[in-house]
Amino acid sequence: MGTLNPQFTDDTVIVTGGASGIGREVAQQFGDAGATVLVADLREEPKGGGTPTHEAIADAGGTAEFVETDVSDRNDITALVEAAHDYGGVDVMVNNAGMFIGGSILDLEPEEFERIHSVNAKGIYFGTQVAANDMIERDDPGAIVNTASISSHYAQFEQVQYDSTKGAVRMITRGAALELAEHGIRVNAVAPGQIATELNEGWSEEAMEKAANDELVKRVPQGRAGTPEDVAPAYLYLASEEAGYVTGELLFVDGGWQVF
Ligand code: NAD
Repeated sequence: MGTLNPQFTDDTVIVTGGASGIGREVAQQFGDAGATVLVADLREEPKGGGTPTHEAIADAGGTAEFVETDVSDRNDITALVEAAHDYGGVDVMVNNAGMFIGGSILDLEPEEFERIHSVNAKGIYFGTQVAANDMIERDDPGAIVNTASISSHYAQFEQVQYDSTKGAVRMITRGAALELAEHGIRVNAVAPGQIATELNEGWSEEAMEKAANDELVKRVPQGRAGTPEDVAPAYLYLASEEAGYVTGELLFVDGGWQVF
């Protein structure tokens, strides 16, 4: 099989949630492809410990900076997008930061509902809004790639609060694509399936038994959970010139989970 080899040597890429998991791998693959990468996260170090993403990119010969950001705070997103002006302005905005809170709709605390929606839905809405306005003001349209999920389409046990944020990401992506097309800005999303990261650590034992990893993985036609390495190239494709006629798309990278 041949390989795609996207190059981003003249581009500045922001990756939110870039310290760990999927975002870390996405940031590193953009770094390897020559982009200047702004890694935006609440924390510098990956969740399981280790070298911060921006340092790993620099160690590999790339250019990267860490910008402490809480995506649920619009002022932080504005400061982040402004930080990219030092490198010519953002060309690719990857709105990936997200969190998981499991639990039954019957007893979830209102603060938990508000927190997950402020990070996963509001963070992506304002990440898209601020980046798009900045591109329009600089007259330099680029690409926005959001992280959706199989949960954007499919409900799973005891995670209404999470699934509803990912449903929102799907419609933020589609609606923004519709509105921003006339400005030359493309907006797409990657919808990962079950990916081995530390996101799912908040699941209750009961939920783990009923619906979590084993059962989810069992129904993956390819027979295994995915890895960040499986998912990251989809972000580079959607951000690339080769995807120039692709907008409003949700690209599932799930080993076939959603066709089951
Ligand atoms: P992860 O927990 O490994 O990484 C998430 C990163 O986001 C962390 O570094 C965390 O610090 C950061 N983050 C959390 N809240 C933030 C905030 N308010 N502001 C800035 N950064 C914040 O998880 P992951 O699995 O890599 O998840 C990345 C994205 O992928 C999320 O949007 C998640 O919903 C989505 N996703 C994950 C899976 C999966 O199975 N792992 C499946 C589908 C979608």
